[in-house]
Amino acid sequence: MIELKNVSKWYGQFQVLTDCSTEVKKGEVVVVCGPSGSGKSTLIKTVNGLEPVQKGQITIDGVSVVDHKTNLSKLRARVGMVFQHFELFPHLSITQNLTLAQVKVLGRSRDEAATKALKLLDRVGLRAHADKFPGQLSGGQQQRVAIARALSMDPIAMLFDEPTSALDPEMINEVLDVMVELAQEGMTMMCVTHEMGFAKKVAHRVIFMDRGLIVEDDRKEEFFASPKSERARDFLAKIL
Ligand code: ADP
Ligand code: MG
Repeated sequence: MIELKNVSKWYGQFQVLTDCSTEVKKGEVVVVCGPSGSGKSTLIKTVNGLEPVQKGQITIDGVSVVDHKTNLSKLRARVGMVFQHFELFPHLSITQNLTLAQVKVLGRSRDEAATKALKLLDRVGLRAHADKFPGQLSGGQQQRVAIARALSMDPIAMLFDEPTSALDPEMINEVLDVMVELAQEGMTMMCVTHEMGFAKKVAHRVIFMDRGLIVEDDRKEEFFASPKSERARDFLAKIL
C-alpha cells in the first residue's frame, strides 16, 4: 500500500533522510520510533507528499507521490493524517469539521456527509458533542475528532505523527483505544509514536530511526525481544 525506495531528503545542506526504504502492506500497522530529531516527522510527511524529497521513489496504492504529474491533493484526500496538534477548524462545530471536506472534496451531499459524521462521532464516543466547538472539548476529545475527521474521507491508509504526545496522561488511552480499534479492523497504518504499549498490542512491524536512517525495520516480536542495534537498545531502555 505504501512503498518507500531509497528516499533521501535535505533541508538546505542538512541531510534529514538518508536512503530510507520500507513498505507498509495493506492492513499492516507499522510503528515508527526513535530519538527526537531523527527524522520521523519528516519521513511520515514525505509519504503523502507534504514534504518533497530530492531522491528516491514513494508510492501509495501504486500511485507515485514524487511524480510531478500526480495530483497530490487528490491522493492526500485518500490518506488520513493525524498530527500531534489537532488542527481542527476552531470556528466550525464538530459536525462541520467532519462534513466540510466530505462535501468540498468528495462531493457528497450535506445530508450524506452529516450522516457519516454522526456515525463516526458515535464510533469515537463523541456523538453528544456534535454541536460543540473544538475549544469546548478536551485535548483527548479533540484528537478523537481529528481521527474521525480523517476517517470521514474513507482513507485507504492512515498516517499518525505522535498523536498522543501533546496530551495529558489521563487522555492518552482514550485516543490510543480508538487507534487500537482501527488497527484491529484492518486499517493500514503508519504511526510515529513512543507508546510502546500500543506497538506491542497492534503493530506488525517497528521501524527505529536515528539521524535520518532507518536503523531497524523488524517484526514487532523481534524488535522487542532483541533489537539488533545498540542505539535501539539504548532507546528502548530509556523509554520502557
Ligand atoms: P523527529 O520527528 O524525529 O523529531 P523531524 O523530522 O521533525 O524529526 O526533524 C529531523 C531533523 O530535521 C531535525 O534535526 C530538525 O531540526 C530538522 N528539520 C525539521 N524540519 C525542518 C525544516 N523545515 N527546515 C530545516 N530543518 C528541519
Ligand atoms: Mg516529530
